[in-house]
Amino acid sequence: MSDCIFCKIVRGEIPCARVYEDDHVLAFDDIHPMAPAHVVIIPKKHIATLMDIDTEKNNIMNHLIAAAQKVAKVKGIDARGFRTAINCNVEGGQVVFHLHMHVLGGRKLQDELG
Ligand code: AMP
Ligand code: ZN
Repeated sequence: MSDCIFCKIVRGEIPCARVYEDDHVLAFDDIHPMAPAHVVIIPKKHIATLMDIDTEKNNIMNHLIAAAQKVAKVKGIDARGFRTAINCNVEGGQVVFHLHMHVLGGRKLQDELG
């Protein structure tokens, strides 16, 4: 996906503040943080939305959860707690159409689910 912003980050064409990376995922600080810790975790392979995950063939959710655990430890919010969120499509509030999991923490989060 040549003009996908997150694919450009994966390819190193746009810089990011990397928090964690493995063969399957990349995690970086959100450019507009909604909390003291706000990290976005993306699959390196382009998948547009949660609805486009082929759960029979692709274990990406497991990789995203494993990365969220690593990110929480890096950010020092693993014990205090944090929130994960995946916005799906327009009414779910998705703006960037490359699957991503938000990890938010570092303050007491209110009921901000919209
Ligand atoms: P969503 O609304 O779930 O699609 O969230 C997209 C998120 O990506 C937003 O929180 C943006 O602030 C974040 N974002 C967009 N561009 C960048 C970028 N270049 N680097 C880091 N985060 C970004
Ligand atoms: Zn992409």
